[in-house]
Amino acid sequence: MDAKIIDGKAIAAQIREEVRRDVELLKMRGKNVTLAVVLVGDDPASAVYVRNKKRACETTGITSLSYELPADTTEDKLLALIGKLNRREDVDGILVQMPLPPQIDEHHVICAIDPVKDVDGFHPTNVGLLATGKPGLVSCTPAGVMELLKRTGVELSGKEAVVIGRSNIVGKPMAQLLLRENATVTIAHSRTADLASVVRRADVVVAAVGRPRMITPDYIKEGAVVIDVGINRIAETGKLCGDVDFDAVLPHCRAITPVPGGVGPMTIAMLMRNCYEAASQRRK
Ligand code: NDP
Repeated sequence: MDAKIIDGKAIAAQIREEVRRDVELLKMRGKNVTLAVVLVGDDPASAVYVRNKKRACETTGITSLSYELPADTTEDKLLALIGKLNRREDVDGILVQMPLPPQIDEHHVICAIDPVKDVDGFHPTNVGLLATGKPGLVSCTPAGVMELLKRTGVELSGKEAVVIGRSNIVGKPMAQLLLRENATVTIAHSRTADLASVVRRADVVVAAVGRPRMITPDYIKEGAVVIDVGINRIAETGKLCGDVDFDAVLPHCRAITPVPGGVGPMTIAMLMRNCYEAASQRRK
């Protein structure tokens, strides 16, 4: 079977361009779009993510405000900053880069962000809106997967979808989004019995596990669509790989995302889209 390799980089560039135009239109009507990015501590991976997010803001015409706090920042101090950003009329989106240092409770921080500025879509209000099928801000990575599926013309209605992973930021919202499109959804996790036979039922597989190349051809039904959310670094080579054994699975599927260049670029593109949505909703 000739599988289609889904080009996440190209689709993400398309979305960024759409956002750039929308942001420009909003500006012409007198409204700037502004994202506040908060980084606590000096985790090098987090610093790279924050830098990439700021760069994406530049290319889409979104103003980014940067707050870099020391690693020993107290929870109260961070919550006070979030309160200030919530009250600022010019700030449309607030993003606090995770993970946070151990003295700060991530859940307290997520709950402190005004849901209308919660561009990560992590606040329980936005999670609840998604679960009840109402419009709200949706977690960027699963929202990006949905865009990849839509723009590749993958039919979801009536299809079997298996999501491997049940985290709050990827697996659970992913399952909700697939359900919204009328797929029959199974969520698998580390306690799932006979994972391979469960995943083999799927017309669409979304792997969000964090285990390098765990998904081999014996998990895949011939002709399935395979979306690999995993980002793993191979210690020996320093190279990135996904949760799917790409080369081995490729001949068995209809379409597949590579790592890097699949879901990764979509996450930041969808963050830009969420900033625009937050700004245009607040303007209304
Ligand atoms: P978490 O560690 O929060 O969740 C991993 C999930 O995988 C858990 O639900 C866990 O099950 C499940 N799991 C672990 N081992 C197995 C196993 N052997 N069999 C079946 N299920 C298993 O990770 P995230 O959801 O945050 O991220 C998942 C992956 O996606 C990571 O590689 C991460 O780097 C990547 N990622 C990529 C993004 C992108 O932009 N492309 C954005 C966010 C994440 P249980 O709940 O039972 O422990």
